[in-house]
Amino acid sequence: MKVEQSVIEALKEIVGQSNVLTQQAELENYGHDEIPSLHFPPEAVVKPATADEVSRIMKLASARKFSVTPRGAGTGLSGGSVAVEGGIVLSLERFNKILEIDQDNMMAVVEPGVITGQLQKAAAALGLFYPVDPASLDSCSIGGNFAENSGGPQAAKYGITRHYVTGMEAVLPDGEIIRYGGKLVKNVTGYDLLNIILGSEGTLAIATKLILKLIPLPKYRIDLLVPFSGFEAAADTVTKIFQSRITPVVLEFMDKAGVKSCEAFLGKKLPFSDAEAQLIVGLDGNSEELLDEESQQVGELCLEAGAEDILVADTQFAKDNLWEARRELLETLKAISRQVEVEDVVVPRAKIPQMIRATVEISRQSGFPIVNWGHAGDGNIHVAILRKEISDQKWEAELEGVIEQVFSKALELGGTITGEHGIGCLKRKQLPMAVGPAELALMRKIKAAFDPDGILNPGKMF
Ligand SMILES: Cc1cc2nc3c(=O)[nH]c(=O)nc-3n(C[C@H](O)[C@H](O)[C@H](O)COP(=O)(O)OP(=O)(O)OC[C@H]3O[C@@H](n4cnc5c(N)ncnc54)[C@H](O)[C@@H]3O)c2cc1C
Repeated sequence: MKVEQSVIEALKEIVGQSNVLTQQAELENYGHDEIPSLHFPPEAVVKPATADEVSRIMKLASARKFSVTPRGAGTGLSGGSVAVEGGIVLSLERFNKILEIDQDNMMAVVEPGVITGQLQKAAAALGLFYPVDPASLDSCSIGGNFAENSGGPQAAKYGITRHYVTGMEAVLPDGEIIRYGGKLVKNVTGYDLLNIILGSEGTLAIATKLILKLIPLPKYRIDLLVPFSGFEAAADTVTKIFQSRITPVVLEFMDKAGVKSCEAFLGKKLPFSDAEAQLIVGLDGNSEELLDEESQQVGELCLEAGAEDILVADTQFAKDNLWEARRELLETLKAISRQVEVEDVVVPRAKIPQMIRATVEISRQSGFPIVNWGHAGDGNIHVAILRKEISDQKWEAELEGVIEQVFSKALELGGTITGEHGIGCLKRKQLPMAVGPAELALMRKIKAAFDPDGILNPGKMF
């Protein structure tokens, strides 16, 4: 339903005139996330700063039946924060305070608009560690991470957002403010409401405060860049590293097409860019000696498994150089191709070679260029399908089929269609490929129980 002028006036009363945006130019900024092909400017952007204001907005939305799309920092890769069915965007950007870092309990209490990297820095200054590190950590928000259950390169050792959230305050679609959990390591009290809302992509409730577990900050870290002549050897190495009982903090994978693209984009030679595949192996710990020993062991293991060379980075400068291609990859692909479809399949770790081999074959048969990279330690592969010179007609007619071939292969290998980017509006059509009818029906019932009027983030997930 269209947002009427009287609703805009009521919203201004709740959050103040300057926190309601209605000018077209302002709305444009909130009309997309990091998927440029999705472009849906909302009818208004509303920026509350307290849970009470969010509650009043949701009560108004329930009464006047307009849609509300929560938004963190807008770095999502599945269109989750885009108002595809109109209504308002509720931006959490003013919820930007780290309320407390409790060193005794090793917990942080934060507002959801806090940028993930800022929390990491604040914790590190006290010798504490918030290890969830999406590659977008300098721009994404904790609330977005909570809603997407985000992971990052360090998930191989430290896990994902779900492993760190112990408490929340959230506003339900009818405006009720709920709280669950606390600064608690354990909690099995009733149904786990926190973990139903966590990862629900802003479709069940709006988080307004989060309590996060922190751990001691490891003192030392070494990263290795390891080139291979084929991705099978690279993937085998991943399995062998885990079999050696060393848990790397990072195990990232890139294929040659990706590294070469970065090299061309950055206009400089990158290390080992002629290798068919590269691994970045990161190790951390509190004993410098033990870490040296482990990196030696991992290095030998890589060479035995077919690595062509090894670059060791133990200074920040060397690490920056080593990570450059990995960090710049997505931006590079966007720069070299008019359109990029980034899929986010996840398979059991040992099945990575089969998955990559399949994408190479899909690319060969379809004529759509594909670049693979991702979190090899988690079996999470980003499959980027590039538009490049492909005609409009072919792109429109065949893209969906190519995506579905990639998804089918992941499912056949015992994997699924998204490991961290979520369903959003991008993959809702394909959700039934991965989730059976009974499970899907249950998910719809959960949505209906939270949001019977369908006003919170409509057009997503289903
Ligand atoms: C270069 C790049 C690298 C990336 N790397 C990774 C990676 O390594 N791992 C990874 O997991 N993701 C990655 N992402 C994707 C993205 O950064 C994450 O999904 C991130 O968690 C989104 O956070 P955000 O604040 O930008 O959320 P937004 O994009 O604003 O929103 C994402 C979803 O969260 C919901 N939401 C936001 N705040 C709240 C809230 N307070 N309450 C309820 N719902 C809310 C929105 O409705 C939407 O559905 C990457 C993106 C880019 C552009």
